[in-house]
Amino acid sequence: MPQPVGGFALKKRYSVFAIAREAARHHLGWERAWASPAPKAKYDAIIVGAGGHGLATAYYLGKNHGVRNVAIIEKGWLGGGNTGRNTTIIRSNYLQDPSAAIYEKSRSLYEGLSQDLNYNVMFSPRGVMMLAQTQHEIRGYQRTAYANKLQGVDTEFISPQRVKELCPIMDIDGPRYPVLGALWQPRGGTARHDAVAWGYARACSDMGMDIIQQCEVTAIHQSQGKVTGVSTTKGEISCDKLGVVVAGHSSVLAGMAGFRLPIESLALQALVSEPIKPCMDVVVMANTVHGYMSQSDKGEMVIGGGTDGFNNYTQRGSFHHIEETVRALVETFPMISRLKMLRQWGGIVDMTGDRSPIISKTPVGNIFVNCGWGTGGFKAIPGSGWAMAELMAKGEPGPLAAEFSMDRFRAGKFIDESVAAGVAH
Ligand SMILES: Cc1cc2nc3c(=O)[nH]c(=O)nc-3n(C[C@H](O)[C@H](O)[C@H](O)COP(=O)(O)OP(=O)(O)OC[C@H]3O[C@@H](n4cnc5c(N)ncnc54)[C@H](O)[C@@H]3O)c2cc1C
Repeated sequence: MPQPVGGFALKKRYSVFAIAREAARHHLGWERAWASPAPKAKYDAIIVGAGGHGLATAYYLGKNHGVRNVAIIEKGWLGGGNTGRNTTIIRSNYLQDPSAAIYEKSRSLYEGLSQDLNYNVMFSPRGVMMLAQTQHEIRGYQRTAYANKLQGVDTEFISPQRVKELCPIMDIDGPRYPVLGALWQPRGGTARHDAVAWGYARACSDMGMDIIQQCEVTAIHQSQGKVTGVSTTKGEISCDKLGVVVAGHSSVLAGMAGFRLPIESLALQALVSEPIKPCMDVVVMANTVHGYMSQSDKGEMVIGGGTDGFNNYTQRGSFHHIEETVRALVETFPMISRLKMLRQWGGIVDMTGDRSPIISKTPVGNIFVNCGWGTGGFKAIPGSGWAMAELMAKGEPGPLAAEFSMDRFRAGKFIDESVAAGVAH
C-alpha cells in the first residue's frame, strides 16, 4: 500500500519490514530506485545538473510548490560531480547573517532528511571543530561564536584542553602551530554524499519527474528575452523555466545563455587512508595549516586539502597536493604518518569573490542560476534546493535567497565569507 510521505506517495517504502520481506524472498522484489526515461518534448521546468543541489531543487519544487512536470538533465551520472567527490562536512557556523540563515536551514533539514526522503543519508551530527592555531584565528572564531549566538546557531569557542578531550589523537602542543582553542559546533557533522543524491533522486522519480542521465546540455534557446528550451545530446527539449545548477561548469552554461557569471572554476582535492579502527568521532578543520580530517563509517581517514592555484576543469588529484596536505596535518595528527593512503581525487568547484553562493534570476527571463558554493556546498544541499525551488516557482527569491542575487557584485553588497571561513568546506 503506498504511504503518503511529504504530500506525495512513494511506490514502496524502505523499512525494517521491507528488508525482512526481501530477505525471505532472495531480494527479488526490490524496485529500481529511480526510472531512466527518454526525455519528453516539453517540461514546465528543466534543471540542468543532477548533483545534490539540482536534485534538491527539483524535490522541493515538487514537494513545496506542486511543480512536478520537471526534468533533471545530467551529462554524466547523477551525483557524479562534486556531490560524489566531497568530504561531506556539514556545519552552519558562518559569520554573516544571510549565510548563517541558509546554512542553518540546511543543517536543520539534514537532521530529518532520512525520514523525509525515506532513505538513510547517514547524517551523523558528531560535531565539527575549527582549530584556532594563531592569535588571529582566536579573535576571528570568538567573533564568529558571538555572531552565531545572535543568529541562533549553536556554537562555542572551546579551550585547548576541551579540544584534546574531544579528539585525543591530536597533539595540541604541535611544534609550529599549537592548538589555542577551537570554534565548536556540536550539531555539525557529516552525511553519506552518494546517499543524499540517491535519496533525492528516488523521491523525485517517485513524484513523476524525469532524471535523464548521459545527456549533455549543449545550447540554451530563448525568444524575446525568455528561455524556450535546450539542445541536448538526446535532442531538443522545450521548457517554461530553466534552472542552471552545474557547480564548476556554471560559466559554461551561462555562456550558452549569453551572460557572464563572476565565477572561477578550480580543482579541489581530497584523499582517504586505508580503513582503521575508530579513533576519531569529530570532524576537525585546521585552517592555518590548511587541512581537515574526519573518519568515515568504513574507518578511512577522510582528508581534504586546498584548491589548485590556477583555474582549470580537470577532475583529478595530484601528488603535490597529497604531500602538502599530509605535511600540514601530520604536526597536529602525528598518527597519520603511519597510515597508507588509498585514493585521491579532485572536483571542479565554482568560486565567487566573496566565497558566498549565487541563487539568482539572470538577464534572461525564466533562467535561474544556483552556483558559487565553491568548496563548501555539500552542507548546503537541502537549504539551497529549498531556496532555489522557491525562486523558480515564484519567479522571485524568498527570504533565504534574497541576499544571494548575482547583482550584489555590481552593487558591491558582498557577503564576505572569504575572510570568515578560510578553508570553506
Ligand atoms: C574535494 C572536495 C571536497 C569538498 N568538501 C566539502 C565538504 O566537506 N563540505 C561541503 O559542504 N562541501 C564540500 N565540497 C563542495 C561540494 O562538493 C560542492 O559545493 C557541492 O557538491 C556542489 O553540488 P552541486 O550539485 O552544485 O554540483 P555537482 O555535484 O558538481 O553537480 C553538478 C552536475 O552538473 C552536471 N553538468 C555540468 N555541465 C552540464 C551540462 N552541460 N549538461 C548536463 N549536466 C551538466 C555535472 O556533470 C554534475 O553532475 C567539496 C568539493 C570537493 C571537490
